[in-house]
Amino acid sequence: MKHDYDLIVIGGGAAGLTASGVGVSFGAKTLMIEKARLGGDCTWYGCVPSKIMLNLGKKAAISGRVVTSAEIRKKLDHIRNEIYKDADHPDKFRAMGMDVLEGDASFTGKNSIVVNLPDGESREISGKYFCIASGGRAFVPQIDGIDKIPYLTNHNLFEMQELPKSMIIVGAGPIGTEMAQAFNQLGTQVTVIDRGSRIMPKDHPELADNLQKILENEGITYFFDAELKAVKGDKSSITATIFQKGGNQDLKADKILFATGRRPNIEQLGLEKAGVTFITSGIVVNTGCRTSQKNIYAIGDVAGKYQFTHMAEHMAKVAITNALLKFPMKIDSKNIPWVTFTEPELAHVGQSKKELDEQGINYHTYRFPYSMIDRAITDDKTEGWIYIYAKKWNGKILGADILGAHAGELISQYGLAMKNGLTLRNIADTIYPYPSYALGARRAADQWYIQNQSAGLVKWIKRIFGYRGPLPDVSDSDRIV
Ligand SMILES: Cc1cc2nc3c(=O)[nH]c(=O)nc-3n(C[C@H](O)[C@H](O)[C@H](O)COP(=O)(O)OP(=O)(O)OC[C@H]3O[C@@H](n4cnc5c(N)ncnc54)[C@H](O)[C@@H]3O)c2cc1C
Repeated sequence: MKHDYDLIVIGGGAAGLTASGVGVSFGAKTLMIEKARLGGDCTWYGCVPSKIMLNLGKKAAISGRVVTSAEIRKKLDHIRNEIYKDADHPDKFRAMGMDVLEGDASFTGKNSIVVNLPDGESREISGKYFCIASGGRAFVPQIDGIDKIPYLTNHNLFEMQELPKSMIIVGAGPIGTEMAQAFNQLGTQVTVIDRGSRIMPKDHPELADNLQKILENEGITYFFDAELKAVKGDKSSITATIFQKGGNQDLKADKILFATGRRPNIEQLGLEKAGVTFITSGIVVNTGCRTSQKNIYAIGDVAGKYQFTHMAEHMAKVAITNALLKFPMKIDSKNIPWVTFTEPELAHVGQSKKELDEQGINYHTYRFPYSMIDRAITDDKTEGWIYIYAKKWNGKILGADILGAHAGELISQYGLAMKNGLTLRNIADTIYPYPSYALGARRAADQWYIQNQSAGLVKWIKRIFGYRGPLPDVSDSDRIV
């Protein structure tokens, strides 16, 4: 049976844009459907506006100059629109050879959808393959009083006209932490509450603790092991009641922001009609991004597995390669990086120390401090550490964590090495330019040589060549050179 399209992509965020771009490049007759604006969360409500806020905050902190609400608004609107025009505009994608349709899509069967168009009309369209890329939205806990107050999520945070004087942020994960620093640096009095005992629970505890201390010193107040019980107030004043250490306490601020996790956009998709299995956290997919229905794939935040733009793009490539080329490709779950773009940045790739310990894997941690990276010293950015987890006998890299300036750039050195089977020895033997932060990544790798240095070998060298110098002191197994 002939279908209207070879490939139909539902959603035009990072995942959908990549999937339809790859699809059309493989020669598939492709349709991308988006109900709002192409670009999705990343361009409009996520990565881009949050990094603009961090950049404005950093500049304000360095210069001491007050950045006005009008300046913030102008930057947010200008940069997002520029990115939309340059990279996300429907005409760009039409020019690639695909059709782009504005509307709300839902399945009527495993090979058919109905699209509700903005003019109130609807269209039935059939497709051979489908890629669901409908993303996610902020999860807001249903606490007492929540329906009666105006609250912020990432969806309306970047549309605010006035910078609040004070703000409570619920959640100390990456979004809550980035926004805490940005707003605090811009002059908002920030209080963060979290039911956990520290910030960034998925990152290395020591590095996350270091970052937390830096943020506390900048003036952010944290309440940990604190359960938000109730909220009340209006558009200019909010009272949040938290339960902590056996008692209730009221916190007051102008605004409250929820950074309490994400929920997949699955409710309106008619998944039952297509026979696609889903759970609360998202559409269930296998390692090739295929759903329970053979011709339907799900990628990006809607699959609820990895909520990053780079993973949305990676999953799109995996799904479309499997669907259109029938070439088996799997999600590369071993080498996933993530970065929290605070100052200093906190970055991770691969397996965490916790995972390695839980799995009983034999590894060694190679550490190097920013205080020994010359470029960090000249830039006065000596706060931070590089931690690499690797096999002692051959230097095979299993994972890495970095806290420090440009950590988000440095982490990819280890990602590239891991993906391509390069070891710490390969990195240590590579020439890096001086004085660069990347040289710190190499010097961290040098520690593999240092830790494997043996007094016995030096004894042999001395004997063979008749050298008269002292033997190296290798008694401290944790030494950093
Ligand atoms: C504040 C914040 C900061 C972030 N910072 C980073 C970062 O620094 N780095 C990073 O990697 N990630 C970051 N993320 C996460 C990143 O934004 C997401 O992982 C990414 O946008 C997911 O892309 P997606 O295509 O899966 O979904 P989305 O971008 O949400 O796109 C889904 C699209 O589908 C459309 N849609 C939904 N249902 C339908 C339907 N039925 N019919 C038609 N269209 C539909 C929606 O309108 C939307 O445009 C951040 C997120 C937030 C909230």
